[in-house]
Amino acid sequence: MILLDVQMPELDGFETASLIKQRERTKHIPIIFVTAISKDEQQVFRGYSAGAVDYVFKPFNPDVLRSKVSVFIELHEKSEELQRQAELLKEQELAELRRESEERYRFLAESQPDQIWTATPNGELDYVNQRAVDYFETSFTEMVEAGWTNVVHPEDLPRRLERWQRSLDTGQPYENELRLRRADGSYRWHLTRALPMRDRRGSVVKWFGSNTDIDDRKRAEEAQRFLVEAGATLGGSLDYRSTLASVAKMAVPRIADWSRVDMLEQGRLRTLAVQHVDPAKIEFALELARRYPEDPDARRGPPNVLRTGESELVPEITEDRLAELAVDDFHLGLVRELGFQSYMCVPLVARGRVIGVISFVSAESGRRYGPDDLALAEELARRAATAVENAQLYREVEERAQAARVLETVGDGVFLVDGEGIVRLWNRAAEALTGLRRDDVVGRSAEDVLPVWDHLAVRVPVAGAPGPASAETLPLELAGRERWLSISGVGFDEGTVYAFRDITEERALERIRQDLVATVSHELRTPLAAIYGSALTLARDDLELEDALHDKLMEVIVEESSRLADIVNDLLVASQLDAGRLEVHIERCDARALTEAVIAAARTHLPEGVTVELDVGTNDLPPVAADEGQLRQVLGNLIDNAVKYSPDGGDVRIRLERSDEYVRFRVSDEGLGIPPAEHGRIFEKFYRLDPHMARGIGGTGLGLYISRELVRRVKGRIWVEPNDGQGSVFYVEIPAAAESEAGRKLRIEAGAGS
Ligand code: ADP
Repeated sequence: MILLDVQMPELDGFETASLIKQRERTKHIPIIFVTAISKDEQQVFRGYSAGAVDYVFKPFNPDVLRSKVSVFIELHEKSEELQRQAELLKEQELAELRRESEERYRFLAESQPDQIWTATPNGELDYVNQRAVDYFETSFTEMVEAGWTNVVHPEDLPRRLERWQRSLDTGQPYENELRLRRADGSYRWHLTRALPMRDRRGSVVKWFGSNTDIDDRKRAEEAQRFLVEAGATLGGSLDYRSTLASVAKMAVPRIADWSRVDMLEQGRLRTLAVQHVDPAKIEFALELARRYPEDPDARRGPPNVLRTGESELVPEITEDRLAELAVDDFHLGLVRELGFQSYMCVPLVARGRVIGVISFVSAESGRRYGPDDLALAEELARRAATAVENAQLYREVEERAQAARVLETVGDGVFLVDGEGIVRLWNRAAEALTGLRRDDVVGRSAEDVLPVWDHLAVRVPVAGAPGPASAETLPLELAGRERWLSISGVGFDEGTVYAFRDITEERALERIRQDLVATVSHELRTPLAAIYGSALTLARDDLELEDALHDKLMEVIVEESSRLADIVNDLLVASQLDAGRLEVHIERCDARALTEAVIAAARTHLPEGVTVELDVGTNDLPPVAADEGQLRQVLGNLIDNAVKYSPDGGDVRIRLERSDEYVRFRVSDEGLGIPPAEHGRIFEKFYRLDPHMARGIGGTGLGLYISRELVRRVKGRIWVEPNDGQGSVFYVEIPAAAESEAGRKLRIEAGAGS
């Protein structure tokens, strides 16, 4: 209350009042004018219009004034009270409104299929909806107090903390994908999001969040990705063991904590691969599988799947379930000890047959398998089986191709005649050996195309059971020449496989060998008989021998002994040559001196009518590089033959001439000669033109063979040509000794000697 005088110096009461009324802070303060002078109506009216609540004349009764003032104070207090009441009412209304809206959003939150939550600006959880409480099977309070940390998959936790903190710091919306552990221990993928609610000034007052279950989508995606990766791995492997081992590996930890592949081998399941999240347990698991193979009659697990070809899924291994499955005590203990939670077994089916079983077990991860997991496992098994099939097919094709390649490259002719008598296979060697082309033979009746088929079909023993069939030797007329084939056959489901080889050469050799035995024994017997006869005669007491006869007999003994020695020596040299044991000492030899010595030796026992002449074309014959003793043997051989095969006499001429880097020895005779067709063969071991000695000329058939081998060893050449008119000419070329090197060698040797 203001009690205001009207008459005042400078600024009167009315002006003061209007100033007071103008000021915001004072305009509601009641004013009572108190005056002694301005009592006319005019003045009173001015006073009221200036905002006075009363106009009191002096002198005034203080009680009246007091009671007037107290009325105004009371009034003021009343109106204050009223205002307060109005404000309270307004607040109550607001609170009601707020509660209503909160309830509305809670209701909204509760009606959502997702988990809905709110958090304080510093990130503390302060509300979760019933859905979340149900999912985690906890209480609202517990949930709100504990927050998310304990239910987020440990692998996803760091990412969650990092992102959530970033959103709290920046006020940016939060979004993440993580696995939340359900009350049953399994984890499901959720998409979690939160938006900040801000006040008028823009600061965050609350976070509104939601967790949406995206497990199905996530798993489908993951399954798809997994299958794609698995496909790549499986497609790249052609060895079925490594293929399946890689399946076991791939499954852990993405679909299982344990995985195992069992394959059907010899009628039993054998564990081929095991994988475990904990590598230390792999050995243990393998050891278990080795020591306690699955009971083939078991009513659950791999044996059951193998028998029925149906997958097995146990979402949750409970005691009841175990009892129901009639698991034996050992496996029961195992399941408990290893903490098996859930498992599935799927068959591996290749070409319509169950060839194995893949098992997936969940333990540590607490995962529960459901139909989706089973579908994934089945798909994986299907792909693995396809890979195994491919690997098997590949191997078969490869084996077949290999077999075909082998058949193509073997030296034996191989052909196959099926049950209908049709030729189904005819290899390259068969073509080469018979001259019959594959196109002309394959697909046609053996009877029509194989010249000796009648004979074959009847005579060739066909082995039924495995084991070698004895071979039959048959002559076959081919391209006008007689060939000998050794043929054997083996019968099998689809017909008979025959293998044959050309043994014409072997047969010929065999005949030669037989001839040789005859010849050599004859060759040995003749001198032996002569020696024996001579010795017997000499030893007789009752005969008085003339000196001439005595000498003659002694000469026979000496000569025939030397012949015997020669034959034995030839046999020895030939066998050394065969064994590669003959040593060759190459040195400088004087060709002319050597030839003269050989001729001189030959001349000592020339038959009648045969002469041996040396004809040296030139005076500057170089020395030859040869083993002197061996070269002597070669020349001796040629000259002996020339003499021996001139039974009707004739001139044997030996010529020495130079031919480039060689010295050529030419030995010609006018004897029996050699048909050109045999020019090659006479150098073969034991080969003789006249094995039965129709002309009475003996020999072992070794001389030319030995000569050829010796000449070859000093890098020389030997051959035969017909002599003009009659007889043969044998040529031997021996390399001339290199002057410088030979000279040096000689000097060194001379030096070493002195
Ligand atoms: P052999 O001990 O039979 O003489 P060789 O190896 O020296 O053995 O000769 C092989 C065959 O070559 C002889 O059996 C003979 O038929 C033939 N032959 C070798 N030299 C002559 C020749 N100068 N004239 C005719 N035939 C020869």
